[in-house]
Amino acid sequence: MKYEAVENYAGGQFQTRTTERRNVISPLDGTVISQVPMSDTSDVEEAVRHAQEAFPAWASLTSKQRAEVFYRYRALLKTDQDTLAQLIHDENGKTVDEGRAEVVRAIEVTEFACALPQMVAGEVLEVSRGVECRVDRLPLGVVASIVPFNFPVMVPHWTIPIALGLGNTMVFKPSEQVPLSARRTAELLQEAGLPPGVFNVIHGDQRASQAIVDHPDVEAVTFVGSTPVARQVYQRATNQYKRALCLGGAKNHLLVLPDADIEQTAANVVASMAGCAGQRCMAAASMVAVGDIDPIIERVCQVAQELVPGAALGPVISAAAKSRIEDYISEAEAAGATVLVDGRDAQVAGCEDGFYMGATVLDQVQPEMRIAREEVFGPVLSILRATDIDHAVQLENGSEYGNAAAVYTRSGGLARHIVQRVSAGMIGVNIGVPVPLEPFGFGGWNESKFGVGDITGKSSIEFWTQSRKTTTRWTGEIKQGWMGD
Ligand code: NAD
Repeated sequence: MKYEAVENYAGGQFQTRTTERRNVISPLDGTVISQVPMSDTSDVEEAVRHAQEAFPAWASLTSKQRAEVFYRYRALLKTDQDTLAQLIHDENGKTVDEGRAEVVRAIEVTEFACALPQMVAGEVLEVSRGVECRVDRLPLGVVASIVPFNFPVMVPHWTIPIALGLGNTMVFKPSEQVPLSARRTAELLQEAGLPPGVFNVIHGDQRASQAIVDHPDVEAVTFVGSTPVARQVYQRATNQYKRALCLGGAKNHLLVLPDADIEQTAANVVASMAGCAGQRCMAAASMVAVGDIDPIIERVCQVAQELVPGAALGPVISAAAKSRIEDYISEAEAAGATVLVDGRDAQVAGCEDGFYMGATVLDQVQPEMRIAREEVFGPVLSILRATDIDHAVQLENGSEYGNAAAVYTRSGGLARHIVQRVSAGMIGVNIGVPVPLEPFGFGGWNESKFGVGDITGKSSIEFWTQSRKTTTRWTGEIKQGWMGD
């Protein structure tokens, strides 16, 4: 195995109770590169116990003292960027450059966490003569973060530095498909001086997630993953009266108007649909062609065909994912869609057992087809034809998801008209991956998110804390005998 077997991380130690393990398979060539524990309830109990023990001391530090750890951690992420990018490449399959870009995003959220002391200063006001009300934000206790495979470094950092920076301790569960970056994250946090027990990693599948959500001492849960699981985790956590924020899947529509810049639009649409092999919750899934935009579609096809699997285009996560995606394409073709660019059966010399696909473009996709309704999560673009702007908006609104949407046009007025009518939480104007960078928050609408607020940005501060309101009446006496005069 290229990498040593992964262990859980609890109380500052890398050790595991369960003996059940699963192979970690690299999507690059199908080889076993490591092993990951499939944790059970006893592993979770131990991690929560360590997190609970660490909480009082960590919470009692000032926010500036906690930020010191994250200043050091940010520097470590920078120096470790290439190592992390290589781990991401090996376990997730995305290109090393895409891995590096992910680490940059993790650094940006860590910078936000370093700035928390500037943002969490309490509020105070004399609410009536001699009576002062003061609000402080306090951590919740032990919290949990459960994350997906597609961003092994970026998505974990949506929660780790912010939740910990605010004084919580955490049990973190990465995807069992990509445990190596999580181990490195724990090592770097340890090196930055994070006290033992403040951050704990439990590896495993849904059994580990469920044991974490059900543990009575876990106060709050965030989840990022597919919609069916996000819904389940949200229900499970809130049924136990826990605070929860669960981000789900996506089906993002890009509306392309005839006046859009051909070159810029084509390059941007293809980057959105095929970047990270289309395995992004912000990826373009459907392109809604408004009127005659055939010159743009032609260029989209050319740019998609130029993407070489194994070079600019990494594999998808697993053999099962590859066959699921190819089934969607074949089913749509059989139902009457036209395959303009066919990425099925891609082969990469020397990596015949890797899970590669070429970028795929389908035209004449109908809204009722499964490929138009469901999340495909691969480098596939479905083109839906709209007669006018209202029809295009109607097609976008027809999706049950609502993570992102985009419009391509040179007209500010039309862009604004569409921005105000699409049903999505994050919208791009001539931008196909409209991720709101710090200090703005990340979060979708509809079936793409369950819970209130965004996972990053200012509303994350609300999520990870509770407010204490202290009302004080100040007496008027200024001279007391016991003051010695
Ligand atoms: P997934 O839902 O299969 O798994 C996510 C996490 O949940 C993993 O850690 C997994 O081990 C665990 N899990 C799986 N089944 C579970 C269950 N029944 N109960 C509890 N936990 C369970 O998702 P994935 O395949 O790892 O990731 C891809 C999905 O994540 C896509 O749908 C993508 O759109 C979504 N995603 C969404 C966002 C967002 O911000 N909305 C960001 C990234 C990824």
